[in-house]
Amino acid sequence: MKKERLDRFLSNQLNISRSESRTSIRRGTVQVNGKTVRDYGFLLSPGVNTVMYDGREVEYRRFIYLMMNKPAGIITASNDKSRKTVLDLVPDHLRRHNLAPVGRLDKDTTGLLLFTDDGDFAHKCISPKNTIEKSYVAELDGDINESIVADFENGVVLCDGYRCKPAKLSNLQNGLVRIVITEGKYHQIKRMFGVFSLGVNSLHREAFGGLKLPDDLAPGECVELPDISDFIGF
Ligand code: URA
Repeated sequence: MKKERLDRFLSNQLNISRSESRTSIRRGTVQVNGKTVRDYGFLLSPGVNTVMYDGREVEYRRFIYLMMNKPAGIITASNDKSRKTVLDLVPDHLRRHNLAPVGRLDKDTTGLLLFTDDGDFAHKCISPKNTIEKSYVAELDGDINESIVADFENGVVLCDGYRCKPAKLSNLQNGLVRIVITEGKYHQIKRMFGVFSLGVNSLHREAFGGLKLPDDLAPGECVELPDISDFIGF
């Protein structure tokens, strides 16, 4: 296990600045395996050594994985000069340096959005090579028919000539449809329906791989996912 400097460890795990972390260490508020350590360069073994900060144990997580129920009207970005972003909705205790959304949902799209500070994981999720199924529920301004369903299955050709990977399309109750795609191009679903002159009134992502958005996760709320790889398959 790679050793890590104490100031860096605290800064990463608690999402505090390096100088805040050093000040706390110098003040004697940090213990490693029961002993106060004032040397901020002290090397510890994350996950092996017990670290106390202000009387509370620091729970070690190498990376953090979150699922949010993205509300409508918020942009998927990590920072923006003037607009509120999905990252602004993440509560302080779940924030980490380098935390970022995995892929993006349009401003008006709602539903399941992942966040992580694990760059490899995020990269695998958004790589064009992946075959993770993303399931959406949409309200359209018209009806689908069997010929459109077959076209989705065969790969819709967008107006720029790109042939989408096969997608599943089905009718639900209340005039809604379900679309399952394995890629995530810009405005993909809206552009796919656009080929058939169908407008998308609302779009909601209900699942990402084996992960389903829980019914009790309110818009804007997020939860931590300790075992995410089991759901995504890597
Ligand atoms: N397809 C879209 O058109 N928009 C989204 O937000 C996601 C998929």
